[in-house]
Amino acid sequence: MADPKGFMRTPREEWPRRPVAERVQDWDEVYVPGALLPIIRRQADRCMDCGVPFCHEACPLGNLIPEWNDLVSRDDWRAASERLHATNNFPEFTGTLCPAPCEAGCVLAINQPAVTIKNVELSIVDRAWEDGWVRPQPPERLSGRTVAVVGSGPAGLAAAQQLTRAGHTVAVFERDDRIGGLLRYGIPAFKMAKDRLDRRLEQLRAEGTKFRTGTAVGRDIGARELRARYDAVVLATGATRSRELPVPGRELAGIHQAMEYLPSANRVREGDLAVSPLSAAGRQVVIIGGGDTGADCLGTAVREGAASVTQLDIRALPRPERTEAEPWPVYPAVYRLSPAHQEAGELGSAPVSDADARLFAASTVRFEEGADGRVGGVRVADVDAERRPLAGTERALRADLVLLALGFTGPELDDGPVAQLELALDGRDVIARDASFATNVPGVFAAGDAARGQSLIVWAIAEGRAVAAAVDRYLVGTSQLPCPIGPWDRPMRA
Ligand SMILES: Cc1cc2nc3c(=O)[nH]c(=O)nc-3n(C[C@H](O)[C@H](O)[C@H](O)COP(=O)(O)OP(=O)(O)OC[C@H]3O[C@@H](n4cnc5c(N)ncnc54)[C@H](O)[C@@H]3O)c2cc1C
Ligand code: SF4
Repeated sequence: MADPKGFMRTPREEWPRRPVAERVQDWDEVYVPGALLPIIRRQADRCMDCGVPFCHEACPLGNLIPEWNDLVSRDDWRAASERLHATNNFPEFTGTLCPAPCEAGCVLAINQPAVTIKNVELSIVDRAWEDGWVRPQPPERLSGRTVAVVGSGPAGLAAAQQLTRAGHTVAVFERDDRIGGLLRYGIPAFKMAKDRLDRRLEQLRAEGTKFRTGTAVGRDIGARELRARYDAVVLATGATRSRELPVPGRELAGIHQAMEYLPSANRVREGDLAVSPLSAAGRQVVIIGGGDTGADCLGTAVREGAASVTQLDIRALPRPERTEAEPWPVYPAVYRLSPAHQEAGELGSAPVSDADARLFAASTVRFEEGADGRVGGVRVADVDAERRPLAGTERALRADLVLLALGFTGPELDDGPVAQLELALDGRDVIARDASFATNVPGVFAAGDAARGQSLIVWAIAEGRAVAAAVDRYLVGTSQLPCPIGPWDRPMRA
């Protein structure tokens, strides 16, 4: 803390976003390039070094936030990068994508705007890449043990990097043609540029991690065969079962799951397709579901040139500030204007909406057929506090493209590792595991959304680090690897 009164002298200032009219014309990240570095030292100086840093507790990775705030405010970026990388393999993923529960837990946030922790994190790692401090860290010696990691999302990549650095020979199996899981084909490039992912993959390769793309475990190689070939297996296959909306008309053409729509749009950006087969260009789009996935569909549809886009959220319009039911330091469900909502709101994308492009407390009653036999509309009704439709509120929204973004119910259960290994599931239909991340099959471990259920990047990286420590101990009897979370840890709640 270079300035003990920094929090009194300096107001919170966030990384500025580019003008809406400019950024919806491209797929680049929405923030002004280079605008963070000039402001960030003074922002880091707002950290009070409060002594009991709840931010640190609220971060699943246990990021050493006050330490790196202090180092940034003293202009010691290299040391800040070392402290940051001590707890987080991929700070650029969290620095761009994390909802920052740390900031909700910041002690300053009790009566002032929180420290811009996420922005500080990103500045440190961007500076580290620019100055060449992020280098491969190959192991000094090999253990002679082999590990197969199935799935290359943030959980699989974090596990692979930790285990490779510990000296094990690690191969990552990914059924897609590119590595990255939801970072590659789910999350759009305007939230995180794909070159941030690619340069990390180069680091992993240089450290010795091997990647096998286009290989679905269960189809291209049997799960039992994989287990027989490797000393340990980590399943990090994600929660890829999309939640359904079983209302009349669901079978109509033009209604798609978000994870059918977003990957095609991402493939256009990767140069695989000239045009997305599900492009929203010229269409009246209705997105059903109010979470991150829905917001990503919104930003994508706006950029594709949709005629209109409306997002339905069954929850009531959130309050602007936290209430006593969600006291500091928990992460509150307050109204947030994501970049995609700001864009759709400013452009007037929704024909009718409560706020930005969203209709709140709105439930889908049924889909209506259009003149061409495809979906032509969505009938919605307002709901009460128990989410029951209110009589007399039904109305129709025009729609010729409907995107379902209702969340994910867990890992795939048929034909894959779960079925072939006869893995036990817990009551939520995710892979069950014991306190050391081990499944009911000896030598098979599970991490990330496949076992935790639908979650966040920061939890996935923490899971990957923790499962790596457990696998290391299983293979060699002891481990120096850090273990930030247990399998049943959950976000702080009131
Ligand atoms: C559209 C969308 C947007 C999101 N936005 C955010 C955000 O902004 N911030 C945030 O914190 N979180 C966000 N999330 C959540 C976050 O992306 C996930 O929590 C995280 O990616 C989970 O990581 P994972 O490694 O467990 O699984 P995943 O990232 O899902 O990766 C699993 C991988 O396993 C592969 N796989 C599955 N089965 C097999 C098999 N049998 N053989 C080989 N490979 C297999 C899959 O192809 C996939 O690549 C978002 C989620 C979605 C869907
Ligand atoms: S990973 Fe997320 S919770 Fe942790 S410090 Fe970064 S922004 Fe905060």
